[in-house]
Amino acid sequence: MSETGRPSVLIVEDESALCTLLRYNLEREGYRVFEARNGDEALVVAAESSPDLIVLDWMLPELSGIEVCRRLRARGESRNVPIIMLTARGEETDRIRGLDTGADDYIVKPFSMSEFLARSRAVMRRVRPGLVEDVIALGDINMDRVNHRVHRGTRELHLGPTEYRILERLMQNPGRVFSREQLLDTVWGTEVYVEARTVDVHIGRLRKTLNQSGERDPIRTVRSAGYSFDETFAN
Ligand code: CA
Repeated sequence: MSETGRPSVLIVEDESALCTLLRYNLEREGYRVFEARNGDEALVVAAESSPDLIVLDWMLPELSGIEVCRRLRARGESRNVPIIMLTARGEETDRIRGLDTGADDYIVKPFSMSEFLARSRAVMRRVRPGLVEDVIALGDINMDRVNHRVHRGTRELHLGPTEYRILERLMQNPGRVFSREQLLDTVWGTEVYVEARTVDVHIGRLRKTLNQSGERDPIRTVRSAGYSFDETFAN
């Protein structure tokens, strides 16, 4: 279960050598890595694995990278996921600049791994600071991920490991709606079968601890979809 709590990256690239190289370097940096070799697969894997970052090649067989990017942006669950496009030198770079592709950044091939990792970290930090920072503070809730301590105001919250992981996942992505299945994967990994209703039990416990002094509930229940951390909570 050491898989959980780490940021995940989906690599969409049909060149297997480059894919392997990216995977190797990203895993060494502590990311979980998913792969897709074409656009259709990318859309499926993105929906199933809800990655924190998508690295998307422009030149793909069938669906182009740009079309994949548009479709990802049109879907609720991937609307806000940062996307880095990989492009070849030349014309494409100008087209990427000129088009409203929805990509957060692009990297021109060939690139060095250190440049790639630095750009990935920069995008993650900008778009999802909670994924790379040691402390996540939203409103009066403060999560210290080094010491695994959570405070609401001055009150320390004593959360079980499952409640902690669920809260961490939600706080890393304020506003993003997670299905029960996605939260299950966060906590137990994809190898273990746990009933989806179990999530409701843990959310119930989490809420009880979070709001025990009658504070505002930061967790939103989204009917027939799942749960999210209220993005207006920090304001
Ligand atoms: Ca390619």
